[in-house]
Amino acid sequence: MSQVLARKWRPQSFDQLIGQSSTVQALQNALKHNRLHHAYLFTGTRGVGKTTLARIIAMCLNCEQQITHHPCGQCLHCQSIRKGHHIDVIEVDAASRTKVEDTREILDNVHYAPNQARFKIYIIDEIHMLSTHSFNALLKTLEEPPQHVKFLFATTDPQKIPPTVLSRCMQLHLESIDMPTLSSHFQSVLTQEKIPFETAALDAIAHAASGSVRDGLSLLDQAIALCHGHTITTDAISKMLGTLSETHIQSLITHAFNQSAQQALELAHTLIQTGAHPASILKQILHTLHAIACHISIQTSPAPFDLSHLTTFSTHTPTQQLEWVHLLYQIALSGQRDLPFAPTPQQGLDITLLRMSALMPETPEEATLPWHQTEPNKPLSTFNNHISSSQLPPHQETQNTPKRSPTSTPLTPPPSQHEKPNTLCAETWHQWVEYLALPGMTQSLLAHTGWKTYQDNVLTLTLHQKHHALISEKRTQTIENSFKSNGFESITIVIETHDTSPDSLQHRKALEAAEKPKKALKALEQDETLQTLLSTFDGTLKQPELKTPSS
Ligand SMILES: [Zn+2]
Repeated sequence: MSQVLARKWRPQSFDQLIGQSSTVQALQNALKHNRLHHAYLFTGTRGVGKTTLARIIAMCLNCEQQITHHPCGQCLHCQSIRKGHHIDVIEVDAASRTKVEDTREILDNVHYAPNQARFKIYIIDEIHMLSTHSFNALLKTLEEPPQHVKFLFATTDPQKIPPTVLSRCMQLHLESIDMPTLSSHFQSVLTQEKIPFETAALDAIAHAASGSVRDGLSLLDQAIALCHGHTITTDAISKMLGTLSETHIQSLITHAFNQSAQQALELAHTLIQTGAHPASILKQILHTLHAIACHISIQTSPAPFDLSHLTTFSTHTPTQQLEWVHLLYQIALSGQRDLPFAPTPQQGLDITLLRMSALMPETPEEATLPWHQTEPNKPLSTFNNHISSSQLPPHQETQNTPKRSPTSTPLTPPPSQHEKPNTLCAETWHQWVEYLALPGMTQSLLAHTGWKTYQDNVLTLTLHQKHHALISEKRTQTIENSFKSNGFESITIVIETHDTSPDSLQHRKALEAAEKPKKALKALEQDETLQTLLSTFDGTLKQPELKTPSS
């Protein structure tokens, strides 16, 4: 290949331009009716076609045939504009000519008629780089431009252009090119270049190009050189970009899902050894989780992700999957944020993967292991702040507890801090709630219930209507199982909702909490020393604000 792709495939007409349909439409209409503004400012990120568009307009204006929105591309003017050496089309890179002398020199001949063509066209790239004096010099010309002059400016940073200049230009924004459009453009380029490719490889390049056609084509040049004209493969591109294949990332996520922390770490270390940076691994994990979340929620992914490696997914309901993905995303995001603070990037990645592996959505296991609960006084690890303890896997609760292996003998529940009541009746209900000490939201549900009846193995409890959302089949099951393991073999739990607050443990505790300041106040009032002090200094006892309990 003698020419780089970005030059070889530089669009020569509006039709060949990638994306930018609304801008092109506006310009074509202006050309059709010969109502072109004397100064255009094209804004947009690098490599989206700003100077290319300026050259196409120059051809449209100076084509030998006529002013047209379809330049012939064959005449002398069109050809020399395309090659960038037309005498009346002056291309300036403002980045290298910022001084006022430069601008004056450029604008010196502005009042003379064009040499050969219809218009004298000034294409000034990166115009925001001009100095203030240069802008002032330019402004004079912009205020009263000669009929035969057109200005076409391009910038990546319009904020730096003085408003006086901005207001004299027609501003057109060129959008970044989306990934599928870029990818399909690369496909058509490679097909015409007769170079075989894997579509996923081109997707990866389009991804890395971040909306820039030029950047993407430069990467494609690199890829062709790397693959020596053979098939451009995903693996080769992954190596080239320092990114990882989707298969690897999905394997990492699958390991996290299976709580196989060791496998996740081993894979991550292998990837790091082959050149992947921990930051890019985390970034890709986030991209994949985002795609998975979109896939579950709205059945579409922003990119064609192949989720076939996540086989473990199908065993869970969409709600569980989504819950899990959101949590993992949150962990990965905070891992990415904290990465610069970790002693080494690899350590930061390790910790993030360990956190991810320690999580999974609620499983029926919760119901059978009621004693696996976060102790209220235990300090929680940072990410636990985002989640309720019921969403933690059983072995997550204490950092000191060794991880259970599947083959080890089953653990016996730790003794409850409360004594087991002798009977199950209205009087002992609150004691039962404290004794059972179930995990997370299940305990919350239980603490809000009041006693109704226990007849024929059916325990009926009452709950205020406003706590209705706490009831779930799984939680009821957990409560039943807990009673069963306490000798109530065939118990059934029924929870009724009412408009009134039952006499629940929660309610009683709220009452007790409200009583405390009252009792303290009473004690103070009866304190003789205090009374002496008050009478000596003519003081009064300030009444604390007392809250009324809510159930
Ligand atoms: Zn022409």
